Amino acid sequence: MKAPPTLRARRGISVVTVVGVMGIVISFVGFWLANRATSQTRNRHLDSISEQARASVQRRMDANVEAVFGLRGLFLSHDTVDGSKFADYVASSDLFRRSRGSSALSFDRRVPFAQIAAFEGAVRAAAPPGSPRASYRVQPLPSPGADAVVVDLIEPRAGNEDALGFNVADDPVRAEAIAAARDTGGAVCTAPVELVQRESTVGVLVFLAVYRGNSVPVTAPARRRNFEGVVAAVIDVNVLLRDVLGLEPTVRVAIYDVGPIVADVPAVPTAGRRLFASDTAAENLRSAPRVLDLNVADRRWRLLVAPRQGFESVSERIVPFAVALAGLVVTALGMALANTTVRARRMAEALAADTGASLRARESDLRRTVAELQKANEQLRDLDRRKDTFLGTVSHELSTPLTSIKGFAALMSRGDLTEAQRADFLQRIARNAESLHGVVEQLLEFSQLQRGSMRLNLEELDLSVLVTDILRQSAIVLADHELISEITDGLRIRGDRLALTRVLSNLLTNATKYSPKGTRVWVTLWEDSAQALLGVRDDGPGIPEDEREHIFDAFYRGRDTERTREPGTGVGLALVKEITGSHGGTVRMQAPAAGGAEFIVALPLLDGTPD
Ligand code: ADP
Repeated sequence: MKAPPTLRARRGISVVTVVGVMGIVISFVGFWLANRATSQTRNRHLDSISEQARASVQRRMDANVEAVFGLRGLFLSHDTVDGSKFADYVASSDLFRRSRGSSALSFDRRVPFAQIAAFEGAVRAAAPPGSPRASYRVQPLPSPGADAVVVDLIEPRAGNEDALGFNVADDPVRAEAIAAARDTGGAVCTAPVELVQRESTVGVLVFLAVYRGNSVPVTAPARRRNFEGVVAAVIDVNVLLRDVLGLEPTVRVAIYDVGPIVADVPAVPTAGRRLFASDTAAENLRSAPRVLDLNVADRRWRLLVAPRQGFESVSERIVPFAVALAGLVVTALGMALANTTVRARRMAEALAADTGASLRARESDLRRTVAELQKANEQLRDLDRRKDTFLGTVSHELSTPLTSIKGFAALMSRGDLTEAQRADFLQRIARNAESLHGVVEQLLEFSQLQRGSMRLNLEELDLSVLVTDILRQSAIVLADHELISEITDGLRIRGDRLALTRVLSNLLTNATKYSPKGTRVWVTLWEDSAQALLGVRDDGPGIPEDEREHIFDAFYRGRDTERTREPGTGVGLALVKEITGSHGGTVRMQAPAAGGAEFIVALPLLDGTPD
């Protein structure tokens, strides 16, 4: 029984490994792609938020710049602009509603040092009683000989009363921006300053110069000469920027004032003063993923935008991991599937091999059986043939002497026979009867042996004496041949006298029957290895090699007997073999080198047999 099919280890890379490696690679690639897509989305989102923030700040500051240009238009188009005109214009500009954080619009008039007192007096005189202008005073005073630039008109008035009379030029930061606005004729934003209206509030002011003569002079010296003052937008940076930037909770933002825009000189990255920070962490922001510059009335502002913790949604964050995990799960499933497939295939192969082997084994068994059956069939046919031959032979063997007996008996019934003829006929009848008896006797003996009913009368006997006696009584058989015998004396065996006589006489009959008349027949008895060996040899044609294995078979007759018509039943040698065997001995045939046939019967000697 073969072992059940088992999995065999295979050398080389297995399908499972290939699936596993590919799956892992694909999972990692998937992770990488998903991560890249997520980070691209995140970058785009951050870009978009940053750009929106920049644009919003720019728009609001532009609104302030527009407002000051509008105000200058008011001054250019009117010889005098009093408080009510100013207020009307400002109200119509709608600036404070459009830009939260724009806390005031003002006109700051240039007053030379020498005219300060007169200016104060004129303002107070023109002021209605109870108005804040009634106590108008320029402060802080400039150094003697210098010009003051004082807040003359301001909107909204409420809350800004303190600013009236404030000498803006006293603050170097404001003074610098005013000088630049005066000289360039354009809008100029200040660096961050502390607002007068609200203490410790950071703000910027956008100045635009107003000149005498209802126009903007072309040259700088002319601008200085005709400089009348500045219109200014006061901006509470914190309010304005918080309004714009505080809306986006997923990013932290800081804005720095980098400085005036100077052509060809690159701005220092994060130098300057901070204008706004969305939270404390943003206060320390020195560099950020997104840095955007914007131009506010000739100053550069720098916007730093960094994502906050929650910038990326949870789903965005887990997508790459989910992809990788899904890939790995699919890989594991794929490996399991591949493994199962491979196992199933190997099992199927093993089973197929097994089945193939057992089929082949069965096939060869079948072939063997068929061959055995064919052989048995052949043997049966052979037996059948022999039976037919036997019947023919026996009939012939019986009818020949019977015919003779009948013939001579008929002759003897005639009355004219001489005595000598009568004696001759009687002798012939007796010989034929003897021959008939011999055939019948032989057949009976064989049949008894075959049935196992032949009784051997075993006794201790001297084989040497027995052989000598038989030879002496075989004169008729040996009549036409020359007998050469060599008998060792005193070989004692245990055997059946009659049966052993049958053995020797059969061998002698064959030797004389199958060899030409006048040739020699040797009978030899000798001892070897505790055996008595009896040899009967003739000088005949011998036995063809292919027939030697059959001659001891019952009813087998040599091919040549058909031609020579030698009498016989084919049981002679079978009888010899049976009798020898029943005495514990053997019989074999050998072909002497000189020709002829020799049969050797070996019988066990009795103990104590003398040498
Ligand atoms: P039978 O002699 O009646 O044919 P046997 O059994 O005695 O039957 O012998 C079988 C066959 O063996 C014979 O037919 C013959 O062909 C062959 N045979 C036996 N003895 C001799 C011999 N001495 N020489 C040649 N052939 C022999």
